Parts: sequence; structure tokens; C-alpha cells
Amino acid sequence: MNLLIDDFVSTTKGKVSLRTILTSDEDYQLQYYFDEVQLSMLQLLSSLATALFQPSISDLKAFLKNGVTGEKYEQALVTCNQEWFDSECFMQSKSPEKKVGLNAQISTIVSGIESGTSSNASGLFSNIKMVECTCSDCIHVLNYNLHMNIKGERFSKTGATGIRGGGAISTLISGGSLKQTILSNTIAVDYYNEQAQISENAENSPMWIKPLQGKVYQATNIGLIRGLFALAYHVSFKKEDKSCLCDICGHESNQLVASFNREKYQGHYGSTKNGRDANAGWWLHPFTPIRFKDSQFYPITARDQNWQSWQELDSYIIGKETTNSIIKPAYVVTQHQHTANTGKTALLVGGNIADQGSITGRVYDLFSMPSTLSRQHSKVTQVIDVGLIYKDKLKRAFFLASKNSDMKVKKQLLNSIDIDTQNRYIANAQQIIQQILFNVDKRVSSELREQAALELSVEAKRIYKTVQNKYQHDLPLFKALVKGETVFYKK
Ligand SMILES: [Zn+2]
Repeated sequence: MNLLIDDFVSTTKGKVSLRTILTSDEDYQLQYYFDEVQLSMLQLLSSLATALFQPSISDLKAFLKNGVTGEKYEQALVTCNQEWFDSECFMQSKSPEKKVGLNAQISTIVSGIESGTSSNASGLFSNIKMVECTCSDCIHVLNYNLHMNIKGERFSKTGATGIRGGGAISTLISGGSLKQTILSNTIAVDYYNEQAQISENAENSPMWIKPLQGKVYQATNIGLIRGLFALAYHVSFKKEDKSCLCDICGHESNQLVASFNREKYQGHYGSTKNGRDANAGWWLHPFTPIRFKDSQFYPITARDQNWQSWQELDSYIIGKETTNSIIKPAYVVTQHQHTANTGKTALLVGGNIADQGSITGRVYDLFSMPSTLSRQHSKVTQVIDVGLIYKDKLKRAFFLASKNSDMKVKKQLLNSIDIDTQNRYIANAQQIIQQILFNVDKRVSSELREQAALELSVEAKRIYKTVQNKYQHDLPLFKALVKGETVFYKK
């Protein structure tokens, strides 16, 4: 099986190849049980398309406008190194000491599932039986997920952190169809090299062909193709000739994979503390927004389970500068400004919310994007700002309530109600903001802002009222909350 040629992608219309998705007019939808696998698959397919076409920014514009013909695909197959993408070797480097490595169940590389091998590893699903076996096609997306998205802590001391860093979120361009989505996240080699400051002599062949050497992996020496499929482990999968119903894609297969072996690489990327201390530098991963702080780059991660993506949406689209850090959008979002045509696009924000090795939540949010980001970004910023204003109003309402003389003894209770209420607001605002931005292109700025102010103020007041009702029998507390409410009626 070759990932550039054969049918390994699970869709609602059966298994198809990357070629079929890109060269036909049929609209395919990915079909996987877990949204994180789906998110990984989108990244894997765009990375494969990048390795296949290695397009310039003008090639990419043409693909986005006119699509890819079967002939073009065939030509690209001849010039790329298609043997790198054979399923027997893809992303599976061999340990130099010929060590077999540690064996683990396949469920440990679906990051939502509890692995049970490390004290701080737990997942969103406690039932390990949800993934007992996979087909031989799905191991590739799981392997990619292991290297790109799973935190090293998951495997305790035997875990390694990959090129992106642990728990990094992804922002992808989501097009009107799967084909458009894959092409929108395909990387233009010329523009990328200019942005990422990769050295001219950087190694571009993948790490299963030429493994990493040494203790520090210098970012400037890692070429685009090498970095897109960067490894942190030597892995091998144990295939058995038995029939299985795949727990990842749901297809029947006559080959089964239930476990794999892994051994971590010994050096460090600039995405880890050791790597940063050794000045390895951050490798510009095209799907991750980054924070520049204290002269170092960090991937953006989802902070805790109450985190919602809308709060930082504007910084993922246009970036943001605060007093002590700068947030830059993912490379792929910047590239989109240069390649976008008029078709409707959205921003997909996805990833795990991880605390050490534990997964405490997951993000998979879609936001409509203005087609011309540079001219219309203020529309997004204004809506987000209104959202944050009402979050702040809630906070101030509780502050005012706490000033009531009777409230000194109830400070702790009030504090915990305050945090709960804000979290509820942040969660509910997510959907409201997504909906307001749905027609971002068709509406003027003031209209969007007015709608946001109206809907979000109603929501903030409604949540606050619910709290008041809950404590109406505690008269001193109730009175204090009523006093706090006046915040909502002040300018
Ligand atoms: Zn499968």
C-alpha cells in the first residue's frame, strides 16, 4: 500500500485514495469515530499533498481555483519520492541499536483513551475497550497522531515530545469541500521557506530515510517535508492476518493491528525545554499558532478544561501583541491571505486540552472567516471584544456583590460562584459567537457588533439571574447579588 496512490482514507462513501479525493468532483466526507483522528487525517492528507506537489504559491493558487487533474497528479508522482510513502516504511524508523522497544496497546495512541501506563495519564474515555484493534490502513493516521499531537508525559519517562511540542492546538483552513480543505492546508514551498528561515542546506528527506542524529535537533536544518512528518519515536506495528472490524474507521479488514512497539529518540527539538536551552530553535510548524515570549517561541496550547477557543480567535487569525508576548497565527493562516479566492472558508481550531499526560477536554470548533482577512479582520476582533466585555461585566458584578458588608464571611462561596458563572458564560458564548460570525462576509462591522452586544448581554444577564434565583433563600447573599447586578445597566 502506498499513501500517495492507494485507497486508505475512510469516507462516508467507502475507502478512497488521496488521488480520488483531489482529482474527482465528488464531495467526500471523512469518516472516523474520533474527531481527533479526523483532525489528524486532515493534517496528514495536506502534508502528503505538500510532499507530492511541493507547490509554489502560484501553483497553489491555481490548484485552489481550478482543482487538480489526474494528469497533474500522475506527473507529480513521477517527480516526488513516492517510495517514502510506502506503508511498510512510512513514519517508521528503525532503532539504530536494533532494540525492539516497549510494547503498547494500540489504544494508547488514540489520545482520548486512558492508557493506564503512567500515573498522570488519563483520557476522556475510561473504557480502553473502545479501541482494541485497527485495520492496517488506520495505523498511519494513529502513528501520525502519536508524533504530532500526543504529549510525551503520556508515556511517563519513556515518552518523547515531538517537533510541535506537547498539547499544541491546530488551526486549519476549512474549505467548502474536503478537496478544498486539503488544498487550502497544502504548504507553498517557496513562501514557507521564506517565512521559516530554513537553511539552504537543510535536510529534506524524512527521518525514516535519514534518522535524526545527536542530542539537539536544530530547527534550521530540518526541511519542510522532513519536518511535516518529524518523528519522536522509532515505531513498529505488529500486523496479524486475522479479520477485524476496525475500531477507528469501522471498516472490515483481513489484517489486524492490536499493538505496537516504540522507542524514543534521544535528542531534543526546540519545542522542549532541553531543546530551547540548547538553542535548537522553534521549527515553524505550519498548523500551530505560536507565542513569542522572552525571546523564545512556544506553541499555543489550550490551557484548561474551561478554555474556549473564541477568546483568542482574533489572535489566531491576525495575531495579537500584549505587553509581554506576541501571538502569531499559524503559518497556514498567513498563507491563506495570499492564496484565498472568494470561496467560503472557515477556521478549524482543534486539539486536546491536556494537563501533563491527561486529556481533560477536546476542542474542535469551526469559525467562519472573512474572505479578505487583512481588510476585514476588525469585524472578528470587535465581536470577540464584545464577548470579553461581558465576561468582565460578570466579574465586576461579583466584585460589587462581595463589597456588601454581610459578604465578608461568604467570600469563598462568592468566589467559587463567580468562577463557575464565568466558565458557564465562556462556554455558552462559544456557540453564540460562532453563529454571529457565520455571516461575517455579508454584514457590516457595526451590525455584527450590535448583534454581539445584544445576544451576549442577554446571555450574561440570564446566567447571572440563574445564580440569583438559586440563592434567593439566602437573603444576605441574594441582596448582595442584586446589588452586583447594577453593573449590567451601567455604561
Ligand atoms: Zn481502519
